[in-house]
Amino acid sequence: MSTVFEQKVIRLPKPNYSYIKSSEKAKEILNTLSNYKVLEIDTETTGLDPYTSKVSLLQIGTSNKAYIFDMRSDTEFSDISWDLFKPILTSANILKLLQNAVFDMKMIKVHGGYYIKNIYDTMLVEQLFQLGLNMRGADLESLVYKYLRITIDKEPRNTFSDYYQKFEPFQLEYAANDVLVLNMIRNLQIPKIIEDELKDVCRLEFEFTKPMCEMELNGICFDINKHRNILCEIEAEKEKYKKIVESKLNFTKNQITLFDISLINIDSNAQLLEALNKYGLSIPNTDIKTLSKYKDLPIIDELLNYRRAQKFISTYGENLIAKIHSITNRLHTEFRQMVSTGRMSSSNPNLQNIPKKQIYRGCFVSKFDYNLITADMSSCEVRILANLSADPLFLHCYKNNIDIHTKTASEIFGIPMGKIKKTDRDAAKALNFGIFYGLTNIGLAIRLGINEDKAQEIINAYFKKYKGVKRYLDKSAKEAVIKRFSKSISGRRRYYPFPELGHPDFNRIKMGVERQAKNMGIQGSNADVLKQGMIYLVDRLEKFRSDAKLLLVVHDEAVVECHKSDRYEVAKIVEQSIIDGFADYFDLVPMETQALIGPCWLKNSCGNKISDKDCDGTEFIFDSDSKLQCIKCGNKI
Ligand SMILES: [Zn+2]
Repeated sequence: MSTVFEQKVIRLPKPNYSYIKSSEKAKEILNTLSNYKVLEIDTETTGLDPYTSKVSLLQIGTSNKAYIFDMRSDTEFSDISWDLFKPILTSANILKLLQNAVFDMKMIKVHGGYYIKNIYDTMLVEQLFQLGLNMRGADLESLVYKYLRITIDKEPRNTFSDYYQKFEPFQLEYAANDVLVLNMIRNLQIPKIIEDELKDVCRLEFEFTKPMCEMELNGICFDINKHRNILCEIEAEKEKYKKIVESKLNFTKNQITLFDISLINIDSNAQLLEALNKYGLSIPNTDIKTLSKYKDLPIIDELLNYRRAQKFISTYGENLIAKIHSITNRLHTEFRQMVSTGRMSSSNPNLQNIPKKQIYRGCFVSKFDYNLITADMSSCEVRILANLSADPLFLHCYKNNIDIHTKTASEIFGIPMGKIKKTDRDAAKALNFGIFYGLTNIGLAIRLGINEDKAQEIINAYFKKYKGVKRYLDKSAKEAVIKRFSKSISGRRRYYPFPELGHPDFNRIKMGVERQAKNMGIQGSNADVLKQGMIYLVDRLEKFRSDAKLLLVVHDEAVVECHKSDRYEVAKIVEQSIIDGFADYFDLVPMETQALIGPCWLKNSCGNKISDKDCDGTEFIFDSDSKLQCIKCGNKI
């Protein structure tokens, strides 16, 4: 029966608020509010999409009183315009507290025309407290319960969809409470921010809300016809491979049909497994992971090609087209500002999973008379490893412009630099990129097609030469087990849930943590430098006289849209912002980047072989057949 008491709902007291509908009264109140150092901000809207929803109410709180402004100046209810709030909302001297600031910022940007500046986001702080842990959410309900031990009733939230309603007291009380709790929560979060040294990463994430808004609001043009043509080709390919695989497996069935219709249904895992077993391949299941081990067998390679085509069509086929926004006519992805490493994730649609081939990227285009600038942070993870480990060999290479993979191959295989074969360099590259992902001898053996003992020898040789790297990785693993978190360069923490000592899985979990910890410093710092770079970029694009805009950040790449006449200047701004974002955190090895300019989302510089040299062309156009063409050498890709 004790649960009855535990679940007893303690509600917030009736809030002190005033409801303002005239601009005269609003001006008077704003005059007073402009003297505050900290204000709480929230909005009530008719929906979630800033382009199709409207803002009904804007709430501004002062800890003990909420001012609810009716923003429906296009109705009989109010004559208050957004311009009145601009001085306060954009002021660098007044800190604005918000829960999930990106939401309100996008709404006010679309309807008011400006971004809220100088924010503190209670949700982002809570996410920083929980990275890696599977704890309660960071929504307002959870925060109010966690910090204030109060259960709030979020039911009234759903009563704001009607724009033309007369608001009832229960709605206004709800709107008031939504802001009045924010300062209490912040006051209780601050000691932990200070104790855990999260001030810088908080600042970084707060400032990054603006690039987040920009990307989600701007979206990107998508060439539907081109996409459909690709889909047709993939569909044909899918059918081709389906036929091949089926014809190879059909003998495993006893009868052949009269009309040459396949008897094997390769989409049925049970049937496929049985047929493959009869074919002579004894495998436990037909998962991609299992099949991939046998990809050297033609039938498995064909089966994998079939599966890939099928996956692309189901994930990105017509679905992608359906996501084009009815008002902007562009594709807008939704980002999550941080996952456990601090990196972003994208969904609805997930643009981080679009295959990295130029043909798919060619569908993401600029608007008429504009260009897309694509810039990638070059081998960002290795550069971060070089900085974090301060390994003398790495530093030497970067300082003297020596190709790091060739040098690594030379060191571990004991071959002079000039005599390194491509396969040796590839092995070295696999190590340089994989060593902090916990690359094992087994993994390296599979990748290089050598035996496991040989692979272990190579790894041993690597660590013998790169003592600084080894020291860094070992230290990261050890510290994570002791402290139960890893830290990025900005101080971002990624926590590891540990079971009790003596738990049967303790060692297995500990090893998992050690592996993750070797990677976390690099991944987390990667997120830090990228986010700082994007903060600079959005800021500088805003100051630049043109209408250039950040559209996307996908992995380590940024995509910007600008008028053709601005392309060279904007390309420089993009490059410099990325470099500066990195330099804010690392000073041993700098970042390098090369912006690509063209009519679509680009992957690489030209790379066309001209008399034994690769073309370094970075600017492209669509020719009359809408094929990409390098303007330097004329090569079509
Ligand atoms: Zn070229």
